[in-house]
Amino acid sequence: MRKPVKSTFGFCPCCGKRTLFVAFDHWLRDAYKCVRCRSIPRQRAIMSVLDARCGNWKNLDIHESSPCGSTFDRMKKECANYSYSYFYPDKKLGEVIGEGGKVTNQNLQELTFPDNSFDLFITQDVFEHLNEPEKALKEIFRCLKPGGMHVFTVPIYPFLETRPRIKIEDGRVVPIMEEQYHGNPISEKGSLVTYDWGGDIARVMDSVAGFKTEVIEFQDSRENHRMGLEADFLQVVVSTKP
Ligand SMILES: [Zn+2]
Repeated sequence: MRKPVKSTFGFCPCCGKRTLFVAFDHWLRDAYKCVRCRSIPRQRAIMSVLDARCGNWKNLDIHESSPCGSTFDRMKKECANYSYSYFYPDKKLGEVIGEGGKVTNQNLQELTFPDNSFDLFITQDVFEHLNEPEKALKEIFRCLKPGGMHVFTVPIYPFLETRPRIKIEDGRVVPIMEEQYHGNPISEKGSLVTYDWGGDIARVMDSVAGFKTEVIEFQDSRENHRMGLEADFLQVVVSTKP
């Protein structure tokens, strides 16, 4: 049997149970899983932030763009007003694509929801794949209620300034840097990385859309180790609509 590179007993914020976290690879961000719900660190980070910042999340109007994994399983089960969307470019925007009207086809840059629809908008590792993230930020801002929050993860490079890796030419995406792809549950090719987000991320969020943004880091502490919150690029960004 393969030997894990890391294992810790603890408590999983995703499944809410005592558990064992195990990684069989050194890239903990993708490999360090809860043996019960298969959550990875960024999913546990999002759930721990929701529990800490809005303990009543189960009663809130929540929308998530392109959900998957352990947080998705939990939200679907426990939050009555949880809706979600994926983007299929060949389908009509706003079209219902399953489960009683809760799943729709949405382009984050052109949402079909009315203003002030949601208390929480969640995106997990989506913003590094958008062609025009400024449009998406303005749309999420518009669809949030006042006081609502966009809670999200994205890889942040603290020593970089946020920069595009593509440009749009005649409506087409043209890479201006070496192409990088991340895994995508609905595409075999994966998703092209279109933006690198830098240490200025909060300033960008706030100046583009009017949010008040905070980047939450997970310190090297016993409490965080116990929740399996150890990995590179482990930050949760909370952008609040004033
Ligand atoms: Zn778990």
